Amino acid sequence: MSIRLCQECCQWVFTRDDRCPDCQDALPETINPEDTDTRFRTLVGEVRGRMGHVRVARRKLPADGVFYETANGLFFLPYQTVTKRRLVEQSAASPMWTLAAVFWSPLMFLAPFLKRRELREKDFLENEPIRLSKEDLQLLPDFLSRVSGSFFLPLRDIRAITRKRGQWIIDRSIGPAITIQPIADDPFTQEMQQFLATRL
Ligand SMILES: [Zn+2]
Repeated sequence: MSIRLCQECCQWVFTRDDRCPDCQDALPETINPEDTDTRFRTLVGEVRGRMGHVRVARRKLPADGVFYETANGLFFLPYQTVTKRRLVEQSAASPMWTLAAVFWSPLMFLAPFLKRRELREKDFLENEPIRLSKEDLQLLPDFLSRVSGSFFLPLRDIRAITRKRGQWIIDRSIGPAITIQPIADDPFTQEMQQFLATRL
């Protein structure tokens, strides 16, 4: 089982016997992103704008990302994982005092006051949105083959979108329904209502 891009379903999937679990297409281990760009640009169509930050209910693939509306459907671009180096405060007990405290227990009571505080650099893994400026917006289709976990839902494959307890459930003609939830107080809900009223 590995994560591969299904060009037919426009989504990254966990393969079953090297095939897409949704459409059963055989998926090659690697693809050259440049070979798919023209096709995906035509399929996705003109990018109309950002709808908001959402969490997709799924495991193993990136869940948090940004939804975009395009001329031909809905596009999900996951956050990217980046390494951030930050200064953190750490207590650093002097080895001499620690040793002395082991041999003479009354020093143990003093130990918390004898600890030095110092700043150290530490690496953290963080998820952050891929920022697309207005000028870069039309590059969105190119991310489909380059960012694992991204997907595109063509309008023709969306059967229905319903809202249930703050979540949105997207029924597709291929594969299981996709459940998404807006992150925090994002304007996503208004954008989705607008999409439903004008596009479906
Ligand atoms: Zn597929």
